[in-house]
Amino acid sequence: MKREHTMFQKILIANRGEIALRIQRACREMGIKTVVVYSEADREAKYVKLADEAVCIGPAQSAQSYLNMTAIIAAAEVTDAQAIHPGYGFLSENANFSQRVEESGFAFIGPTADSIRIMGDKVAAKQAMIKSGVPTVPGSPEALGDDPKEIIRMARDIKYPVIIKAAGGGGGRGMRVVHSEAALLNAVAMTKTEAGAAFGNPQVYMEKFLTNPRHVEIQILADTHGNAIYLGERDCSLQRRHQKVIEEAPAPGIPRKLIDKIGARCAAACKTVGYRGAGTFEFLYEDGEFYFIEMNTRVQVEHPVTEMITGVDIVQEQIRIAAGEKLRYTQKDIVIRGHSFECRINAEDAFKFTPSPGRITTWHAAGGPGIRVDSHAYTNYFVPPHYDSMIGKLISYGDTREQALNRMRTALSEMVVEGISTNIPLHREMMEDKVFQEGGFNIHYLEHKLEKRNT
Ligand code: ADP
Repeated sequence: MKREHTMFQKILIANRGEIALRIQRACREMGIKTVVVYSEADREAKYVKLADEAVCIGPAQSAQSYLNMTAIIAAAEVTDAQAIHPGYGFLSENANFSQRVEESGFAFIGPTADSIRIMGDKVAAKQAMIKSGVPTVPGSPEALGDDPKEIIRMARDIKYPVIIKAAGGGGGRGMRVVHSEAALLNAVAMTKTEAGAAFGNPQVYMEKFLTNPRHVEIQILADTHGNAIYLGERDCSLQRRHQKVIEEAPAPGIPRKLIDKIGARCAAACKTVGYRGAGTFEFLYEDGEFYFIEMNTRVQVEHPVTEMITGVDIVQEQIRIAAGEKLRYTQKDIVIRGHSFECRINAEDAFKFTPSPGRITTWHAAGGPGIRVDSHAYTNYFVPPHYDSMIGKLISYGDTREQALNRMRTALSEMVVEGISTNIPLHREMMEDKVFQEGGFNIHYLEHKLEKRNT
């Protein structure tokens, strides 16, 4: 790259909402100017006005705005930005976008198109992990073929229950659990059809369905000089429909030695595959063992909990790596201190989970020691109906897990959001939940609790 070792003067943010604001804050602190692109539905948002420059890239529908590569690259050209930060979601894990951005002469703040392509294909990603010595969930070594006998034999080998997953899947979609042979072939056919329609890739693969795992993930940073480190782990087991609701770091009750072992393997795998940027290795953790499920090649929604316990600004490190700088930290510099929780605040009904867009008539954010609010919302902000329902993240930090939890409880009691429904009541309930307070519950815990709550 031409621009090696010189920091960017201007970055274009190809995203919206809280992450667009988060990236702006990171840039401002570094003295970098920002360009934010926005759809017609986000025209009035304050974070758009806060940016140094703003460019409208199309109508509300994401396909014509936040997913419109041509419009975004044109916006970078007219504003003389040098790099593009894709945030999460939208184009962040689109290999073609990474490629087009770089071919147009801009730096992509994320991995190369090749890395995104490999990790975006979960079958290829698993194979790369096996080669690098990262443990994976037992399952089919490749995408399933068409021979029904072979599929049946494979499931017998793996032993039921098994899960059929789309190679191109994401966002908790494109998965089907199969408990017996009678349901197998039908499930494979249905998942293939759905995967083809939803992800443009009909390939599916088979894994052992772990019955009570936790979701534990490792955050990594890798530069373009062959250095890679891990920033500890996050526990994201509290999920509804495979979507994370509350995350925490560190993961309660997992020996540091085990984390260090798996973390070192992840960092080594980054070097083997020539990965650059921030990334997350997602694992299921059961009976003291880690099983890789996928890698996310972008900054994640839950990155703040890691920032709280390590003191590393992950977004700023992404920017430095993209500018060609060497990592400023070695593994020894990464010291885990204290505990952090993150509650995702969604504009949705707290019981039925139906989206609740509309005008926020009162927004009163929490504060005080150890509290961080990452949100673009404010009183009189209109939550557009076109996008994800997450409107912010409430993050707490404490010296101990108990203190972080107590601070989160207080913060949740202070938060006032009126005019729309949010899931804050659910978060308040979780803080009082004995199993949640204990920590170390599995990925099905919230679903089971919700079933009871609704009957
Ligand atoms: P996505 O890319 O859609 O997020 P993942 O592969 O990361 O898909 O899986 C999302 C969630 O689905 C996991 O956090 C877990 O709850 C569940 N899951 C995936 N694979 C398995 C498995 N083999 N056994 C049990 N649960 C699984």
